[in-house]
Amino acid sequence: FLRRLRRTEPHLKSFLYTPSDQTILQQAQELDNRIQNNEPLGPLAGVVVAVKDNICTCDMPSTAGSRLLENYRPPFDATAVRKLKEKGAIIVGKTNMDEFGMGSTTEGSAFQVTANPWDLSRVPGGSSGGSAAAVSARQCVVSLGSDTGGSVRQPASFCGVVGLKPTYGRVSRYGLVAYASSLDVIGCFGSSVADTGILFHAISGHDKFDATSSKRDVPDPTSQFIANDYLVSKPLKGLRVGVIRETLQDGVDPAVVSSVNSATSHLEDLGCVISEVSLPSFALGLPAYYILASSESSSNLSRYDGVRYGKQLFADELNSLYRNFRANGFGSEVKRRILMGTYALSAGYYDAYYKRAQQVRTIVQKSFRDALDRNDILISPAAPSVAYEIGEKKDDPLAMYAGDIMTVNVNLAGLPALVLPCGFANGGSSGLPVGCQMIGGAFDEEKLLKIGHIFE
Ligand code: GLN
Repeated sequence: FLRRLRRTEPHLKSFLYTPSDQTILQQAQELDNRIQNNEPLGPLAGVVVAVKDNICTCDMPSTAGSRLLENYRPPFDATAVRKLKEKGAIIVGKTNMDEFGMGSTTEGSAFQVTANPWDLSRVPGGSSGGSAAAVSARQCVVSLGSDTGGSVRQPASFCGVVGLKPTYGRVSRYGLVAYASSLDVIGCFGSSVADTGILFHAISGHDKFDATSSKRDVPDPTSQFIANDYLVSKPLKGLRVGVIRETLQDGVDPAVVSSVNSATSHLEDLGCVISEVSLPSFALGLPAYYILASSESSSNLSRYDGVRYGKQLFADELNSLYRNFRANGFGSEVKRRILMGTYALSAGYYDAYYKRAQQVRTIVQKSFRDALDRNDILISPAAPSVAYEIGEKKDDPLAMYAGDIMTVNVNLAGLPALVLPCGFANGGSSGLPVGCQMIGGAFDEEKLLKIGHIFE
């Protein structure tokens, strides 16, 4: 993996930081010593993992893709990272991302642009583009990303890998740099459902450092990856699958529609009962998401005040300290979000924007609940298009936001969703991957993983 990482990295730029070969190999050497001494090995012993750069690591920088945190080394590990280390994983580096997770292409990184391994002139998706590209190019076995509005699922789709967005509260957010706290969740990438599920299980569970983390047990999905369920003729007999009508209409690339339709036929062959469901509030999710995510981020990002983090500046008075630090440190998309969020929260506008968006959020949650009462899972594309050219939407924020239509509703409802490759569309030198999104009820990751494993 290390050799491949070093060879491919100059073309991909998926990592913002990798330790020296010697430091990485030392982690492997320690595992070797354990074997020699007959000490037990953890369930992830020797598994090569990459970590998105907004997840804190005490032995590597954690910039969240921002100049403001350029030399920031957290004094602690995120809970997810601590669990990986305890279980024997080898962490090979920190991956590139849109600054603070705000973006859908990874072009919003303050440092570099990551390429899509399927076609180097295209974006890998975002904001966890580095983590998706790294798995896709086999620079690592699995990786961690974060998903506030689709940042694990859309890059998984663009890069042809598996991506899991867990239920809100399933994985501790302790040590995840906050974007929109009511939506943020750490998610997983892998090249198979089994790999992704094992990583998910390793990082999940209650954490006293995150008051929103759930106390529910997390069932170990490993045994169902070993079972030979898929050898019987209709392994998913009777499973009710609802295809979300609003996600396969105008404005969605026909190649995406036909790949998702073929995924649905495949599920039918496996024994599922397919029906169409309508989520009338679907289109409202996008504006509601952008108001809520921007509002929460405008509050969360106020901690970057030039005092607590980053390079120390000096100024005669406090306001000019803030102004200098923020004007030079934040990128343009982050500034746009802070301005939109501050506006939406202002006295006089609050009822019209923030409060209304919260009302839409309640409607979205209810419509998912109704649809999932009648179905085990729901199906949609993970993105309305395949990976597009670098630069194509960079200067058109509204076009970029519109690309999040398939994913943001799931965050508003806090539900788990699994994205897996379901076809190829024309474009690029070898075709471009299309991802299909399977949405489950809250805390139903085990079911999603089982279905995904049989499906692939
Ligand atoms: N593209 C979306 C945004 O910019 C989602 C990002 C994310 O999930 N972190 O807000």
